Amino acid sequence: MNKAAKTVFVASRLPKRAGVSGWVATLPPRTPRPALGEAISADVAIIGGGFAGLTAAHRLFRLDPTLRVAILEAGIIGEGPAGANSGFIIDLPHEVSSDDFSGESEGKFRDSVLLQRSAIALASDLAGENGWGKELFDPCGRYSIAMSAEGDKHLYAYSQQLAKMGESHRLLKGAEIEAVTGSKAFTSALFSPGTVIIQPAAYIRGVADCLKEPVRLFEQTPALSFERCGDGWLVKTPSGSVRAVKIIMANNGHAESFGFFRRRLLHVFTYASLTEEFDPGRLGGERKWAATPALPMGTTVRRIDTEGGDRILIRSRYSYNPGIEIGDADIRSAGRLHDGKFSHRFPTLAGVGMQYRWGGAMALTHNHVPAFGEIERGVFAACGCNGLGASNSTAAGIAAAERVLGHDSELGRIYSRLAAPVLLPPQPLTTIGAKIHLAWREWRAGTE
Ligand SMILES: Cc1cc2nc3c(=O)[nH]c(=O)nc-3n(C[C@H](O)[C@H](O)[C@H](O)COP(=O)(O)OP(=O)(O)OC[C@H]3O[C@@H](n4cnc5c(N)ncnc54)[C@H](O)[C@@H]3O)c2cc1C
Repeated sequence: MNKAAKTVFVASRLPKRAGVSGWVATLPPRTPRPALGEAISADVAIIGGGFAGLTAAHRLFRLDPTLRVAILEAGIIGEGPAGANSGFIIDLPHEVSSDDFSGESEGKFRDSVLLQRSAIALASDLAGENGWGKELFDPCGRYSIAMSAEGDKHLYAYSQQLAKMGESHRLLKGAEIEAVTGSKAFTSALFSPGTVIIQPAAYIRGVADCLKEPVRLFEQTPALSFERCGDGWLVKTPSGSVRAVKIIMANNGHAESFGFFRRRLLHVFTYASLTEEFDPGRLGGERKWAATPALPMGTTVRRIDTEGGDRILIRSRYSYNPGIEIGDADIRSAGRLHDGKFSHRFPTLAGVGMQYRWGGAMALTHNHVPAFGEIERGVFAACGCNGLGASNSTAAGIAAAERVLGHDSELGRIYSRLAAPVLLPPQPLTTIGAKIHLAWREWRAGTE
């Protein structure tokens, strides 16, 4: 088929919000930037205002401050997955010793680290330039935490891999972990210093709000379609349009809603619950820490200190939702799991309830590569976050901006070396396979 013949791409669906993220709910309400209400021209139109889209805009501005860039965000900045996650901008692959990573060569490991550290470097520059405090952007590192023999084994193997790579880290045992977390439930932990912990909704608002003219951001402005128009493209929105020379698709799984990467993206949701504020005296340990699970399907936990008391975040459960949509029942079901994980880890907090619960979409690929590159003449994709968009999508946004401008960099060379996402089996095989796989891995993660 002659791909160049296709001239119109229409969105078959738009993103839907999945519960209220506690990160958004605990911030003052946002006054969104006005929606696009006229026909404008731009050098680059960016579809999506998450990590990838906003970062791409910053990188374009740094490379050419005269470039007219228009970002179209379907919702309100911070209310999508970029403002709803657990807030880990990680610098090292989560799972060096897992099944997924065991075949990785040293070179691939180093590429991942360079990619993730490129994301952290850009985020750190923005934090420094804008004077963001530690409640928004904290380069405090992360714990990987285990609560089973299998988790312990996994962390030990991870530690050996990191030592081999010369990556700084520290293993902790029971009493040391309790001194941090106030919980006796954890059996081992590994601290690595390079991860940045963010308040994701505040961070993504910050990244959006420090964009400068001629970069323009339009909120509540979904891109409904785009079509060839002369040498460029015409992007249509409900009340306006952008005539752009180039487009960056930074809408993650919704790239498929425009017909791109068909049968190559796995639309997986994950879920979080945030407690009400509690008296910090009820839980020992430090008042602020952040831990990812030792096993890939385990539970992420954060303690957050706020003026009114402390809160605990629990993130767990994955579901496969090919329609890129979940309902209240999915959030309630994940919530029941969260309640169990919470009471198991923090029995001294009995009676502390969950105030907010939500879920968010991620786009995974079977071979763990991004959905990246020039997908039509003048249309570039920075999608397929693989569950780690705070670093992966940020890096993809940087690399897409560089590719749009033909800018050469080590990061760009890494993206050039990556394979394309592989084709998934036809439906219903993918759904059956994904559901069985997730259920099996969740069972294997046990209490983790
Ligand atoms: C509960 C939870 C915890 C997580 N924890 C972490 C974590 O700690 N660390 C981590 O790295 N990742 C985490 N993730 C994953 C992370 O949130 C995603 O990987 C990340 O948000 C992807 O960023 P993105 O910019 O690629 O896409 P998104 O954040 O999904 O942004 C895409 C944007 O495109 C917009 N859009 C879609 N279609 C259109 C259209 N037609 N027109 C205009 N706009 C459109 C959407 O509204 C959205 O705002 C977590 C996710 C969840 C749900």
